[in-house]
Amino acid sequence: MLSLPIRSRGLFGIVAEYSSFLRKAEPALPFFMRSTPIPDGVSDRVRKIWNFGGENSLSKRPESEAKAIPDLSFDELKMLLQKHTPETDAALFRYSNSIANQLFGNKCYVRALVEFSNVCRKNCKYCGIRKDMKGVRRYTIPDHELMALAKFAYENKFTSLVLQSGELGTETRISWLCDMIKKIVKETNDGLRIVISIGELPHKDYKALFDAGARRTLTRIETSNPKLYAKLHPKDHSWQERVDVLKDQSAIGYMMGTGVMAGVPHQVPGDLANDILFLRDMKASMIGMGPWIPSPGTPLGDPFLAQMTRITQRLEGRPWDRSDLKKWYNEDLLKQTLRMYACARIVCYDVNMAATTALEVISPTGRQQALRAGCNIMMPNITPRKYRDGYEIYTKKAEVDGGGADTLIPVGTIARVDKVAAEGGRVVDWGVVKDPLHHLRKWGGHPPGLKGLTSASS
Ligand code: SF4
Repeated sequence: MLSLPIRSRGLFGIVAEYSSFLRKAEPALPFFMRSTPIPDGVSDRVRKIWNFGGENSLSKRPESEAKAIPDLSFDELKMLLQKHTPETDAALFRYSNSIANQLFGNKCYVRALVEFSNVCRKNCKYCGIRKDMKGVRRYTIPDHELMALAKFAYENKFTSLVLQSGELGTETRISWLCDMIKKIVKETNDGLRIVISIGELPHKDYKALFDAGARRTLTRIETSNPKLYAKLHPKDHSWQERVDVLKDQSAIGYMMGTGVMAGVPHQVPGDLANDILFLRDMKASMIGMGPWIPSPGTPLGDPFLAQMTRITQRLEGRPWDRSDLKKWYNEDLLKQTLRMYACARIVCYDVNMAATTALEVISPTGRQQALRAGCNIMMPNITPRKYRDGYEIYTKKAEVDGGGADTLIPVGTIARVDKVAAEGGRVVDWGVVKDPLHHLRKWGGHPPGLKGLTSASS
């Protein structure tokens, strides 16, 4: 608990008081807000990354000097993932961005995201649309609206459509979704890679959806640590079952996507290092990870928000800059997430990796910074505005993920995406399918049965 008497006595008094505050406050703050000194004996590989100049630095190091390091050890990853200095972060991001530039040039790629239903049978403790959440207006987008959104995505050269929902594995839902996917494939001349992000389903369902035309999945493991997973989920949710689902998706032939959360309560730096190793070992083709943003009214969000309020009250009126705890917290959370992107690019190399929209809740330039730290994908949300409030899986989500007008087809989406990409130093390659190079290597080309699309990466 914090106890912070105000005794500002000139500059010396302020410095002494601030030091005392840090000593008392730091244990109460999340790990990513605490700086770790750089120890002696840092490995040559970590040192090389931290010394990487990149093209914009005075050293004019060629981009090709940045190489993927798939066998980075747990200790090396932990070192890279911890907060040290602004210089170590900047060098790490330059290094991962250089690898992305070698793979994709200055390009990035888009997937149109439709949150087609918020009905969910699960109760993840961090989620704003969990089954027991009160006051959520449940919806499922009707067929004709979903088809219109798919056509919008196709005609506007998105080339990929993400169909996302809460988890609902009823026969009716799966059969409806199979029918919709078949219709979308037909109506768009098989011109969209269809991604499904719909939770844990048995083999027969994922196989049926693959046969209907779905080709990619996105099912986040959230953490590679089963003990931490158990703290984030009710007892009847199983980490092992989720892992088995990811393996099953890969075996069926999907371009399997998964990811984790950074900054979740009870997490320690070693968890994040293991997360990167998990993503590598699972051979994920797509990585979708982001910061944990507390949702009010959830079992995980409420205690955290109450703790932050208590600390903020104790900081009020203090004579140092960092009294704005929320701003400080968001800055550090963004940096922690960027470190994750950078390490994933260095270790997992030629995967696709999304600059998640959730970053915009903590920073107006969050996605742009992610595109400069190794990300190559954006997933603009084209769900109609009238449904957005029903999909607040984290707080303020509806405010940041665009959509604008209350029309069926979102206005301004394309211009917004181009602007974010340009500010992130990239250009959107509209109309180009970017299947993960990682996946194409695994299959020696496109997965069985895939046709109709040509890929710039093949
Ligand atoms: S995270 Fe997904 S599965 Fe879990 S409660 Fe939320 S929508 Fe349902």
